[in-house]
Amino acid sequence: MLSTMQDVPLTVTRILTHGMTIHGKSQVTTWTGEPEPHRRSFAEIGRRATQLANALRDELGVDGDQRVATLMWNNAEHVEAYLAIPSMGAVLHTLNLRLPAEQLVWIVGHADDKVVLVNGSLLPLLVPLLPHLPSIEHVVVSGPGDRSALAGIAPRVHEYEELLAGRPTTYDWPELDERRAAAMCYTSGTTGDPKGVVYSHRSIYLHSMQVNMSESMGLTDKDTTLVVVPQFHVNAWGLPHSTFMTGVNMLMPDRFLQPAPLADMIEQEKPTHAAAVPTIWQGLLAEVTAKPRDLTSMARVTIGGAACPPSLMEAYDKLGVRLCHAWGMTETSPLGTMANPPAGLTDEEEWPYRITQGRFPAGVEARLVGPGGEHLPWDGESAGELEVRGPWIAGAYYGGAGGEDLRPEDKFSEDGWLKTGDVGVISDDGFLTLTDRAKDVIKSGGEWISSVELENAIMAHPDVAEAAVVAVPDEKWGERPLATVVLKEGATADHAALRTFLAQSIAKWQLPERWTVIEAVPKTSVGKFDKKVIRKQYANGELDVTQL
Ligand code: AMP
Repeated sequence: MLSTMQDVPLTVTRILTHGMTIHGKSQVTTWTGEPEPHRRSFAEIGRRATQLANALRDELGVDGDQRVATLMWNNAEHVEAYLAIPSMGAVLHTLNLRLPAEQLVWIVGHADDKVVLVNGSLLPLLVPLLPHLPSIEHVVVSGPGDRSALAGIAPRVHEYEELLAGRPTTYDWPELDERRAAAMCYTSGTTGDPKGVVYSHRSIYLHSMQVNMSESMGLTDKDTTLVVVPQFHVNAWGLPHSTFMTGVNMLMPDRFLQPAPLADMIEQEKPTHAAAVPTIWQGLLAEVTAKPRDLTSMARVTIGGAACPPSLMEAYDKLGVRLCHAWGMTETSPLGTMANPPAGLTDEEEWPYRITQGRFPAGVEARLVGPGGEHLPWDGESAGELEVRGPWIAGAYYGGAGGEDLRPEDKFSEDGWLKTGDVGVISDDGFLTLTDRAKDVIKSGGEWISSVELENAIMAHPDVAEAAVVAVPDEKWGERPLATVVLKEGATADHAALRTFLAQSIAKWQLPERWTVIEAVPKTSVGKFDKKVIRKQYANGELDVTQL
């Protein structure tokens, strides 16, 4: 028997119309570097998104499910694009502005983007690529930045504000199939070509509802969230859509992502929540240690994208800011887990839960798979590869125009689960602790050493700013850990002292013999430790390694 419920498609269009009417007074504030930031209400954002849709259709001829790319910072115009493009039935394609040129060219070609919306400050990045981007027919420029390089380029150029001016503020939004593509994002692709993940209206809608639940970020219209995580990094963790559902105010840093302006904007605008990768929080901590600022408005912070060292959590606890650990991937929209401890615990009892990656929401099913393909128990001890499935988790990668979707064996199980490539354990009450990426595990004499556990232990030393541990070849053991350490300014700890410190919490056979002090840990385009660069530097003999 079928239900008697209405079959109303879950679409971004509904998120847009809801946010601009019911939460019309909520605001998107964009940092400009001037004393007074730029403020725009949800009602205005909604009207302008509607004008943008009209302009894209009537002036630029965007039709059907054509791809419209963005090469933009986090700002109000980017939110307008997030809402307008999917709502009209086209596909929003966010471009990672930190990718190497050749990867950007490949991605734009593969997605067959017709239009690119670009911030003026990013034209020096875009313009040299344009001769290699034959699919791009229109460039739409917004915000400050020198336009002179655009003279004589092949695609038609439009000014964003001129394009919107005078356009209708109504649109006959199509009634879309909720399973249709709404947005796409390519994984950073450390090996092989980048892979396109295509989000549906339904997946975005359901994911946004989960982000808003109190067991996840749980924000309301009384909150302001500082969205540091870039809009090109997995939909800024869903915030531009989830906020429009519940009227959460957004504070957007635009291109001011350095620790000093971030500290200033927190002190001035007093966000109640923020979202960013650990590197950002490390940088901000150093900044406010050198020049104190009041961060206490920010009662909750979502930290994820890479493992959060417990020492970082402790340091922020002391500043009155509570970091909440989350795990996710481009393929998981990204919310996969969040570490909100169960109810009824003291601070002390909460701690062991807080330092896990968190537990799975109702929409994410998980299982652990051992090396022989066997399913492992949730006993907090059996370590295996995490596999997940659910309505906002990718079941394939985009195969390109006219191509078949891709389901590589190393990424999808035969029964359709996503193989995350992350190794960890799950406790009997469903909390996930990741020990490594499968490719970063150190295999020493047949035993596994967790690089993340070593990094967390080293970063707990008061002299250490950052530490990354990688596997390096070893004649006797196959592989051994190499510890690369960034010391805080003026710190004096030497390798032997660090090793002695580590011995307090780490088994003796796991202690690294190879140590090197470096200036900064190399980072990926989204600010995560780039271990393949360290492995390469070691292989090329570029690191000054001390053997203890
Ligand atoms: P990306 O798709 O670029 O966001 O990368 C996803 C990967 O980042 C995951 O598969 C994990 O390896 C890593 N990651 C994300 N969040 C966490 C976390 N909280 N702890 C450890 N690793 C994480």
